[in-house]
Amino acid sequence: MPETYVLDASAFIYGIFPRGELLTPPRVYEEVKDEASRLKLEVLTGLTVREPDAIYVSEVKNAAQDTGDVLRLSQPDVDLLALALEEKGSGKDVAILSDDYAVQNVARKMGLDFIPLHQKRIKYKIVWEKRCMGCNRTYSEGDVCKVCGSPLKLRKRSIKR
Ligand SMILES: [Zn+2]
Repeated sequence: MPETYVLDASAFIYGIFPRGELLTPPRVYEEVKDEASRLKLEVLTGLTVREPDAIYVSEVKNAAQDTGDVLRLSQPDVDLLALALEEKGSGKDVAILSDDYAVQNVARKMGLDFIPLHQKRIKYKIVWEKRCMGCNRTYSEGDVCKVCGSPLKLRKRSIKR
């Protein structure tokens, strides 16, 4: 069993947190901040949010060029892979938790272990909604709440299919 796991956004969304050292890059954490607070992530111990070293970022980009995945990888994906590569380079037994095929493909090319989440997860889908900052009513459009006049904020929510 790996001792270190690098988590992508889906691990947070499905709430899959293995026992061990948990790492994620800041760009992934930005994507899941709302989910993380919903899941009361502060109770999780051992999550570290860290930027990968630039050397590993360019190694990942080179590998993604080779596999043809470079256009399918987002910057958070690249950071995720770079962080795993950096950990492996420092002698850790590390695995990436990701459902993304481009991430898995580049991980394979670089000799990084990954654990797909699709077998474990409950089916969720992400929806975007606008939520009133004042009364919490949700809207599909608009900028101001029709009931209390407070501004609406766009937020991401995962719902069970
Ligand atoms: Zn309101």
